[in-house]
Amino acid sequence: MTTGATATSAPLDSWREWRAWPRRIAGLWRSSLRFRTLAVTLGLTSLAVTVACVWMALAIQNDLFDSRLRQVLGDALRAQSAAQATLDSAATQGDQVQLQNVMTAVRTAMQQQTAADMMAAFRIGPATGNAPQDWATTTWAEDVITEGMRDRVQLGEGQQWWQSVAIPGDSGELPGILVGQQLEVPGVGPYELYLAYDLASAAQTLGFVHATLWFSGVALVVLIGGIAWFVLRSVTIPISEAADTSALLAAGELGVRLPVRGEDELATLGRSFNAMADSIESQIKELADLSLVQQRFVSDVSHELRTPLTTIRLAADMINDHREEFDPATARAAELLNAQVERFETLLTDLLEISRYDAGSVQLELEPTSLAHLAEDVIGSMQQLAEQHGVDVRLVAPGGYSPVEMDPRRVRRIVRNLLGNAIEHGERRPVVVTVDSNQHAVAIGVRDYGLGMRPEDAERVFDRFWRADPSRSRTIGGTGLGLSIALGDARLHGGTLAVWSELGRGSNFVLTLPRDGRAEAAPSPIGAFPTEDTATGIDALGLTQPIDVPSAGGGAS
Ligand code: ADP
Repeated sequence: MTTGATATSAPLDSWREWRAWPRRIAGLWRSSLRFRTLAVTLGLTSLAVTVACVWMALAIQNDLFDSRLRQVLGDALRAQSAAQATLDSAATQGDQVQLQNVMTAVRTAMQQQTAADMMAAFRIGPATGNAPQDWATTTWAEDVITEGMRDRVQLGEGQQWWQSVAIPGDSGELPGILVGQQLEVPGVGPYELYLAYDLASAAQTLGFVHATLWFSGVALVVLIGGIAWFVLRSVTIPISEAADTSALLAAGELGVRLPVRGEDELATLGRSFNAMADSIESQIKELADLSLVQQRFVSDVSHELRTPLTTIRLAADMINDHREEFDPATARAAELLNAQVERFETLLTDLLEISRYDAGSVQLELEPTSLAHLAEDVIGSMQQLAEQHGVDVRLVAPGGYSPVEMDPRRVRRIVRNLLGNAIEHGERRPVVVTVDSNQHAVAIGVRDYGLGMRPEDAERVFDRFWRADPSRSRTIGGTGLGLSIALGDARLHGGTLAVWSELGRGSNFVLTLPRDGRAEAAPSPIGAFPTEDTATGIDALGLTQPIDVPSAGGGAS
């Protein structure tokens, strides 16, 4: 059984391998310049060599036949002339015996003098009593002499006729030439004289020429293929080196350079590439230096502003505490001063945080945290703000209870920012906070049904200092840095912050945090694109039903 199974699988495997060949060749044709050029060179060279060989073979064949024909016709003419001379000079006086003897002598002489493979003589016209007998040196003479040939020879006195024929030989038929002419026997009348010559030697020469031609042709193709391969190697190796080096440069390895050898075009390419790489490296370095200076400047300014701001803050607090003692206009000014100083402080804190990101000096303080409970905390802490805005915040948490490693301070800041924005732009409609998890990640979505944004605004929402519409009401925060810091925090966790927003339909922000620090490949448990259709549809889906949040680790995750 086992043997049988092996025996059938082996041809199947090889059949599968064979079937994969055209795909492999097509792949090589597409991907390898060397293979393509070599295939084209070999194809065209083979075609040219074949055409040249066929043309030469035909020309040589024709030439060989012509020269053999000339030789054969000359030989036959000489034989006929000699025979005619012998017959003319013989004094036979019409005696039959003497005539027969002369004819026999002529036949023997011709056999010795010519290279013909067959000779035959036939009397033209009715036989007379003294006419020598017809004769042929071989038994197959009459088989190769055609009626047409005989008619011509009988009519054409003094003329030579020839025809290509097949001559029977020991090892099959050979190509040959049959020559026919007349022979005048004095006192008797004309005879047809036929001589047949084979072309064996010419065919042999031709065979040798053919073999030599094809061997030289194949050798030439192989030689040209080899030369093309070597030449191509010398060109394609530097090209693939350049491709690899460009890929490394594109991947950020700015120090890579191409080796430059000699003075040719490839060396020029290498030099130009290296000059380009030098220029890119120096420009990037310049930009990096500049950006470092800017980062330091922002950081220094923020730090420097902190001390005077603390003093201003104390003074503003003091003035604000005593505002009842002032007249209404001064009291209002004190209130405004206090609010703006608060904003100024927030702005400074955000700026310092951003400059820390830019300097790459932010460290996560990870601890196992339940995202659902964190969300619950944040909602609780912002309940007052929500009430002020007349917004009902609901938590829907089918998962996300079990603790996941994260920096709770930063994640709380993200959620606070998303929720603050949703409350601020929520237009008094409910805000739904969803927490869920899958085996790869935990996620929190903050969905509002308020103002929303145009698609082009939603694209810019994470840009620094960007606000969709400066004329929109600003009651909390409002530095334009909140979402950009939130995105930085999310990325620091290896997570993502996705947004969906539509003017008039509200917005949905989804923060996804991976369980193992690699979110790119992990699908988020919450989609950014909302599943319900209208703002009012939320109740139909039952998303805003109050939910009792179980304790950590107790719920699904
Ligand atoms: P800000 O401190 O101004 O809130 P953010 O970075 O948090 O800064 O937000 C940038 C801008 O994005 C906001 O000014 C607002 O115009 C827009 N935005 C953010 N969240 C929402 C939302 N839920 N609905 C509508 N617009 C929003």
